[in-house]
Amino acid sequence: MTDAALIIWFRRDLRLSDNPMLSAAVATGRPLVPVFILDPETEAMGAAAKFRLGLALAHFSDRLAGLGSRLILRRGPALSVLEGLVAETGAAGVMWSRSYNAAARARDEAVKTALKSKGLMAKSHPGALLFEPWEVETGQGGPYRVYTPFWRAVRGRPVPEASSAPDRLPAPVSWPASDRLADWRLDGAMQRGAAVVGPHQRVGEAKAIARLEEFATTTMAAYAHDRDLPGLTAATSGLSENLAWGEIGPRMIWHRGWRAMAAGNAGAETFLKELVWREFAWHLMYHYPQLDTQSWKPGWDTFPWRDDNSDAEAWRRGMTGEPFVDAAMREMYVTGRMHNRARMIVASYLTKHLLTDWRVGLRWFADCLTDWDPAANAMGWQWVAGCGPDAAPYFRIFNPAGQADKFDPDQTYRRRWIAELTRVPGALALSYFDAVPRQWQLDPARRYPLPRIDLAEGRARALVALAQGKT
Ligand code: FAD
Repeated sequence: MTDAALIIWFRRDLRLSDNPMLSAAVATGRPLVPVFILDPETEAMGAAAKFRLGLALAHFSDRLAGLGSRLILRRGPALSVLEGLVAETGAAGVMWSRSYNAAARARDEAVKTALKSKGLMAKSHPGALLFEPWEVETGQGGPYRVYTPFWRAVRGRPVPEASSAPDRLPAPVSWPASDRLADWRLDGAMQRGAAVVGPHQRVGEAKAIARLEEFATTTMAAYAHDRDLPGLTAATSGLSENLAWGEIGPRMIWHRGWRAMAAGNAGAETFLKELVWREFAWHLMYHYPQLDTQSWKPGWDTFPWRDDNSDAEAWRRGMTGEPFVDAAMREMYVTGRMHNRARMIVASYLTKHLLTDWRVGLRWFADCLTDWDPAANAMGWQWVAGCGPDAAPYFRIFNPAGQADKFDPDQTYRRRWIAELTRVPGALALSYFDAVPRQWQLDPARRYPLPRIDLAEGRARALVALAQGKT
């Protein structure tokens, strides 16, 4: 039986190096059948995420082909697809890298139980995170709820070195059939956006590793200061796009950060702390699986947030009349990503100035981000709205105009993204109008809208509502 194949089930871990699941599979010496399943959990993702996944899968298929292997694509509920593949290939079992959100955990648990009950191997591996969420506990036991003690707890912990990529993957005697990626139409919901967003993506493991190296040897040194300036194009690593699809592993990034710190890089520790915010988000998601659907602080779900509304629609379209907010919303629509400071500002504007439910914003981000990460997105929204763990106090309301003066003093960011603010708009600002749905009827030649709400008035309204509504 030792030459029976193993199915290696790839999900959001589309890389060859720093992939403990793949290393373990190769170490068995068995023929390996790599598979990606378009299951209902994956089909439920937003438009930009599915589009970006399609790019990642095309690239990863080629990488596997270079190792004498193949990526088998199948569609359907994971368990029935895997059972079918086991029957077709005579495989001895299935391996995968763990996921930590509620839907994925429920699916994986069911798969494990069913396969094991048939006497098959079913083994999950770490690799998506630096630390398994159940391994980091407070002194009293239980999960952390505040970031700083979490950071202190993990800062000095040993993290295994990233494994290197295998040279070849042993192939089975015959390959099972695969769907054609193009038939999945993963770009289907993007419409006009795909052609605009596509060129902004840096797809695949090699580009992710190059990105890390480029960042570590250039802009990381100034990261502690420059990461807050959205006008700068390369002040942050941009790695969220690759981390989201597992095109790079966190262990590799962690060790590169530590090496930079040991070499005296002034920005390295701040960068490592940001990487640990990602860990913290998944720690929270694991221990509080409703993080993306329910307010974390008790009592906040009775707060009278406004449901979706016309102000929120103007926000989605980058037409609030508040330039920093609109610049950020357009940046996301064109590139699939948004600067971190801008994410905080647009989230604050929606939830506080426009008093709109944080879940309205969370859903739009999930539809537009190519770096969509369920935990970071949920934590970010709840943090800004004031209802999340370690959240900004409810009375902290970012003033988008003040934030713009401080972090975009020469208007580089706003002019880059808002065509209506310049006499000769640049290509990026204009590309927004090529990406949006035609029925929005946006035209760069029209006058920029007046502000949706007076900022002082909006702030006062939010303070009253929040003081009354919070518990
Ligand atoms: P860098 O500054 O280079 O940081 C390195 C890495 O650290 C990032 O790639 C990311 O993995 C992690 N990181 C940095 N900041 C944060 C943070 N605040 N929270 C969690 N992890 C962090 N990040 C996502 O990856 N996907 C999302 O869907 C997402 N949604 C967000 C929604 C809101 C409302 C907010 C406020 C933040 C959100 N973030 C999200 C976090 C953050 O904005 C991005 O991780 C960051 O902008 C990515 O850019 P970068 O890779 O250049 O980051």
